[in-house]
Amino acid sequence: MSRQFPSLLAGLAFALAVSACATPTTRHPVTAADLGIPAATSDMEASLARPGVVTFQRVAFARWTGGRGAFIDLDDPRTAGVPKGDEEATIYAYVIDHPRFGRVLIDAGVSATLEDRLNWVMRRGVRDLNVRIDRTMGQWLANETAPGAVFLTHLHFDHISGLIDLPLATPVYLGPGEAQERSRINLLLGSPADAILEGYGPLHEWAFQPDPDDAFDGIVDVFGDGSVWVISVPGHSTGSTAYLVNAVDGPKLVVGDAVSTRLGWEAGMPQPVPLAARAAAERSADRLRRFSVTHPAVEVFLGHQSRTGQVEGR
Ligand SMILES: [Zn+2]
Repeated sequence: MSRQFPSLLAGLAFALAVSACATPTTRHPVTAADLGIPAATSDMEASLARPGVVTFQRVAFARWTGGRGAFIDLDDPRTAGVPKGDEEATIYAYVIDHPRFGRVLIDAGVSATLEDRLNWVMRRGVRDLNVRIDRTMGQWLANETAPGAVFLTHLHFDHISGLIDLPLATPVYLGPGEAQERSRINLLLGSPADAILEGYGPLHEWAFQPDPDDAFDGIVDVFGDGSVWVISVPGHSTGSTAYLVNAVDGPKLVVGDAVSTRLGWEAGMPQPVPLAARAAAERSADRLRRFSVTHPAVEVFLGHQSRTGQVEGR
């Protein structure tokens, strides 16, 4: 979409209005993570040769249907051959059980009470997605041990609403700058993240340092034993993260919405992100794909779909 302004003055007025209206993803307080050691991609790669010590499980919580343009940028010439239509998306969380540190989740599944906390614009938007819940986080918890922590790939509502059903004392970790990302759309949508995080303590930001190998923006060894790594993959959102899990049945790479669909991963289609984030989003996606090509034994889990040949979890 291009915007034309009759004069420089009008342009300046517009810029001022935009900056005045841009609000953060959440006003929830953040603090530095009390977990994790900054590391290099080569450290993470070396860990792949050691036997895994944690278990890993993917749980599907809900499905929704969205226009293909919600996942890939249909205005980009590289997507010209892709027909219009819908994509089926699944909302997942991932369960990691560590022999010493206990259970953590990556992302939080869904809560049935999300809609009650949303403003009418957001509520209508969610209804249009025709969300079909398989299980809520509350229902899952009825038969499962509650996690000692939740590691978020990012703060979008379809990755975090299950926090509503989790104990409020559960520490929540996320990428730096994720909470503070400013956008005009947040004002319109009434900050679903604020509504979902109500009652939680400060969010813990991973302390990334530049990756000495320059293969990623940053790497943190979460428990200091090479079992779980968090990778900085900005672009889809400012603080987007991916997680490499050295599981007993082989290494897993959870990429979050850095790449959410098969069209994004297998055909390299770009995401519909704001212009300012486009280069970062493509760079992060390219870096994840490159890592996967170098390490084909690592099983990749996309944000909202299974890879071709993988069975959708239930
Ligand atoms: Zn997202």
